[in-house]
Amino acid sequence: MNFKDYIRVINDFPQPGISFKDITTLLKNGQAYREVIGQLTERLQGKQIDLIAGPEARGFVIGAPLAIALGVGFVPIRKSGKLPGETIEADYALEYGKDKLAMHKDAIAPGQKVLIADDLLATGGTIATSINLVKQLGGEVVGAAFLIELLELNGREKLDGAEIFSLIQY
Ligand code: IMP
Repeated sequence: MNFKDYIRVINDFPQPGISFKDITTLLKNGQAYREVIGQLTERLQGKQIDLIAGPEARGFVIGAPLAIALGVGFVPIRKSGKLPGETIEADYALEYGKDKLAMHKDAIAPGQKVLIADDLLATGGTIATSINLVKQLGGEVVGAAFLIELLELNGREKLDGAEIFSLIQY
């Protein structure tokens, strides 16, 4: 299955000059969705992982089914003001925009091995901030898994040595 056939590319969204990779066209196809989660699961099987953490919103769409497939828990990384319990926060810059990400203080126990999952690695800002939050809570980041990696933005370089898995590259 060529996953790129299922991903719709929309130019100049959400801003002129951005070539947006729209995964909704892949997700609505049950076979393609199951296959991407299956392939990511295969890549990660055997790795020591206690928890998967995913940033909203598309990090949930990839991270949660991956957590079920691997038999581990899932913790959300959310925009500021959404989580009801005590949180820690960190600033981040997106490929287009700026915001704050937050996690519950009790989301991770010190020493837990955490894999971060998201739909797409662009500049790496979202995942660098996610790694920062997981580390602040005492978690050990064992890697980051993505459906898509935009190679020319060099997001990997921002993630100082974290092991990166991506299924599809542009
Ligand atoms: P980064 O922080 O620059 O690596 O951007 C990654 C974040 O922005 C991810 O959470 C993505 O969901 C979102 N994002 C950036 N570009 C795209 C795109 O082309 N398609 C879908 N999501 C994108």
